[in-house]
Amino acid sequence: MSLTAIDPDLGILDATQSDLGCGRDWATVHRVRPRPVLLCPACHHRVHAKLSPGSVRFFAHDARTSRQCALAGESVAHHRLKLALASAIRAAGHHASVEAAGPEGRWRADVLSASPNGTNRWAWEVQLAATTNADIEERTARYAADDIGVCWVSDRSRNWLGSAPSLLVKTADGGGYAVEAGPAQFVTEECTCSHGHRTCPAGRHGHWEGDGEAPLREVVVRVLNAALLPHAPAGPVSLGSTGVWRWLWATAGALAEAEAYAEEERVGRERWRTQQIEYAARRFPEANAPLVSEWQETLAPAARQRLEDTALAQARAETGKPAFVHLTATAYHFGCGVLVTIGSAVPRSTRGWYGLIRPDPARLDMKLVEQLDLVLFTIPDEAAALRQAAPPGTRVVTVETGQNF
Ligand SMILES: [Zn+2]
Ligand SMILES: [Zn+2]
Repeated sequence: MSLTAIDPDLGILDATQSDLGCGRDWATVHRVRPRPVLLCPACHHRVHAKLSPGSVRFFAHDARTSRQCALAGESVAHHRLKLALASAIRAAGHHASVEAAGPEGRWRADVLSASPNGTNRWAWEVQLAATTNADIEERTARYAADDIGVCWVSDRSRNWLGSAPSLLVKTADGGGYAVEAGPAQFVTEECTCSHGHRTCPAGRHGHWEGDGEAPLREVVVRVLNAALLPHAPAGPVSLGSTGVWRWLWATAGALAEAEAYAEEERVGRERWRTQQIEYAARRFPEANAPLVSEWQETLAPAARQRLEDTALAQARAETGKPAFVHLTATAYHFGCGVLVTIGSAVPRSTRGWYGLIRPDPARLDMKLVEQLDLVLFTIPDEAAALRQAAPPGTRVVTVETGQNF
């Protein structure tokens, strides 16, 4: 059964519209003798106008022609939903074409909606049968290629729900449909965890959760008016008992809140990492001073002086401020390199840290180098190893000292 049929003279008849979309009365096609010639838009076999027990108008394939046609296999439930979508779309002032075929047969939308100026197009796909996520994603991509959004609609909980923008609906009291799952809101609450900033860097907890029930008609209007936007959060979201969703519908406000929360988390995590580094710097320098000296003294004093002069000169030239070296301030995981700072910075905080002189490539903590954006000064013999170990983009300055190993 289908909701549209082709009249060879008049074109498409749309059973969801009172005038069949072409100024014609249902009575001129339903139970008329002789039978008017009507064809299925998908397989072009003969169909006839019919009424379901619930008085839904549709077109049924003539018995012998129904095999092998996708439209012929569609159920009453499928048609009721298509009908509900088409009337919600029309009530919102958008154009709805039922069973609309795409160019070169690329797709056939259960209902294709278009804004009055034709720019905002959505395919509303009723999918009641089980299928795979891959199938849903592939069909969604086909619409996307033609610049058409897709909303998948089902009246039963299916695994594929949420693998693309979708709505789970149910029959509402008093007829019609209600959306059970799909739209979501971003919710935050205070953090009372004992670990605080280590586990909850934003200082509060945020997550997506289902937005409760709403009439399908209302949700369709909000999608068409872009008051609800399809959104794929960073991770899958569990919406009540309806499983895990990778795509949700959210308001622009909720999206902004989620984005602000993600930024708070990022900043919090960054702050915590910096605190750890500062803590290590305060905690360990004296204990490691002998180790630093031992490593640095494998270079002749003249070579060490050369490195230090180069590093200080470059730091000064680049920042226009005085620079200093701190032999004892350097912890083991700085690879026993000597810290260079800008201004009168005492290395109690990471502010003003500029670079490291001759860190040991084998011992240097490269994450630290990356986070603090340190310039590494080294000798030719060790430059290759240091470059290889350092994060991409690290500045490594090679200084000719005349000493070889
Ligand atoms: Zn057919
Ligand atoms: Zn917490």
